[in-house]
Amino acid sequence: MIKKISKAEAKKQIEEFFKDIKCKTSKDVKKIKRLGMRHNIPLKEKRKMFCKKCLTPYQNPNIKIKKGLKIVNCKNCGYVSRWRL
Ligand SMILES: [Zn+2]
Repeated sequence: MIKKISKAEAKKQIEEFFKDIKCKTSKDVKKIKRLGMRHNIPLKEKRKMFCKKCLTPYQNPNIKIKKGLKIVNCKNCGYVSRWRL
C-alpha cells in the first residue's frame, strides 16, 4: 500500500535523499524519481547527481569540461552525460 503524503513532505523526502545520494542505489533513485513525478516536483540540478541511463548515483564521477559542456562518464554502465554549463 502506498502511503499518501503531501507535496511538502515529498519535497522534504527528496531533499533528504539527495543529501546522501552517494550511499543510495539505482533502485532508490528510481523510487525518488517516481515520488517527484507523482507530486510534480522537478528534480532540476539534482538530476545531475545520478546516471540518466542506469540511475546509479555518481560516486567519484569522471567529470570533464569541454567547450562549455560538462561531460560525466558513468562508471556503472559507461553512459556519457553532457550538461550545458
Ligand atoms: Zn549509468
